[in-house]
Amino acid sequence: MPAPDVQTTADIRAAMADGATAVEICSTYLARVAAENDAIHAFTHVAGEQALEDAAAVDASGQGRDAAFPLAGVPIAIKDNISTRGMPTTASSRILAGFVPPYDATVIERLRAAGAVIIGKTNCDEFAMGSTTEHSVSGPTRNPWDLSRVPGGSSGGSAAAVAARLSPIALGSDTGGSIRQPAAFCGIVGLKPTYGRVSRYGLLAFASSLDQIGPFALTVADVAVLLAAIAGPDPADATSSAEKVPSFPASLGEPVAHPTIGVPWKLLEDGVDADVSTAFTTAIDILRSQGATIVDVPLPHAVYAVPTYYVVAPAEASSNLARYDGVRFGFRAPAGPNRSDLDTMYNLTRDTGFGDEVKRRIMLGTYALSTGYYDAYYVKAQQVRTLIRRDYDTAFERVDAVAMPTTPTVAFGLGERSADPLRMYAGDVFTVSANLTGLPALSVPGGRDPSGLPVGLQFVGRAFDEATLLRLAANYERDAPCWREFPPTAALASGIPDPTS
Ligand code: GLN
Repeated sequence: MPAPDVQTTADIRAAMADGATAVEICSTYLARVAAENDAIHAFTHVAGEQALEDAAAVDASGQGRDAAFPLAGVPIAIKDNISTRGMPTTASSRILAGFVPPYDATVIERLRAAGAVIIGKTNCDEFAMGSTTEHSVSGPTRNPWDLSRVPGGSSGGSAAAVAARLSPIALGSDTGGSIRQPAAFCGIVGLKPTYGRVSRYGLLAFASSLDQIGPFALTVADVAVLLAAIAGPDPADATSSAEKVPSFPASLGEPVAHPTIGVPWKLLEDGVDADVSTAFTTAIDILRSQGATIVDVPLPHAVYAVPTYYVVAPAEASSNLARYDGVRFGFRAPAGPNRSDLDTMYNLTRDTGFGDEVKRRIMLGTYALSTGYYDAYYVKAQQVRTLIRRDYDTAFERVDAVAMPTTPTVAFGLGERSADPLRMYAGDVFTVSANLTGLPALSVPGGRDPSGLPVGLQFVGRAFDEATLLRLAANYERDAPCWREFPPTAALASGIPDPTS
């Protein structure tokens, strides 16, 4: 179904230049959320009154007509593992039930300073561990393209919200694909920035050497605008980089002349669904027709990326999640029979507060870090991680970006894989390498399967070269036939008016 209007941040700003107020824009999106969220369950908290107050403040400030504030008055949805002062932040876990942080994450501070209006918190897999949002204490999000399917995860709520036009832009976090995979499943654009490009201060840590916050939007241009707003060094995060932040939106105007794009054809030989392969080959043909040279890149260690990731990520998670013990944050199990027994309180809190997938990761990670296994698993995984990075370094001597499908399949049915964790983990084959290497990676809508479900095209770039990824993707997006379409269940179809018309 072609969208009458794409509703980008620029559309919203144009409407404001024509006299619409931030309060009107915000009300329209809130009305859509009210109409659609029961079916999709993208939001776990809707900011309502608070959002309208923030929008009124933007109207009073005049930022909405000031070009220096391209996000002023633009609604945004935030994944629930990013700290928001005065709003619940639970990472979709029972153990953080009722937790309201006393401070904003750095990305939130920057968004507020830019005049963006936070309309709510979105559903995710518990502590961002998963690929479907099924591991959420509040139940799964549904894919707006087909409500019987998963939206992907772990940032599935953010991706579904944008795809269904419940929010024009959103933030997610990506530790092993959690922005790119749901972007692919929901037919939108998602970017994992280079490790260190965006401050992690205020992000509830899953695996600290892999986590990055990043943008979701309907278009590459909007991803560029949102990245520009949140990127840059932060004294509160020692791993944030001092690397210069280019003007991402401005750089979109200069397409990459005759790019060379590497494709790891060997890696794509096994385990990729035929429909995804077909869409990918078509996408590569479009890139070629635009003047790109396509070359084969071997990436010989990429086949080890999933087992490497599933040692490193749980190891770091087991350490990061030790802090949830019932003492400082959120949920505490009711006292046991012996009220003075601290261990019992810890154990009961963690036993009833964490879900099964989180417990599985804590156990895997604790095992991989324990005496006698540390060298065999954790150290080995770190060594393989270096080999994977070297493969990419070698590839980038010849290519401007590496392209591959974001995922080996399109969105699958709710419940279809939840009983088979290994099969679920295998679906991360194309996304985890970018986290293990720290490299930036972007997923852009790359066609549809015969039933109309979105397929993602992924570009991986050189460290701190998000600008090239954005330019390549923007160029691709111009000629790709599907990007202006929207899901049949979307809010626009429900008769809630277009806020920009
Ligand atoms: N699907 C991966 C996992 O389950 C990635 C999660 C993420 O990026 N947060 O760990």
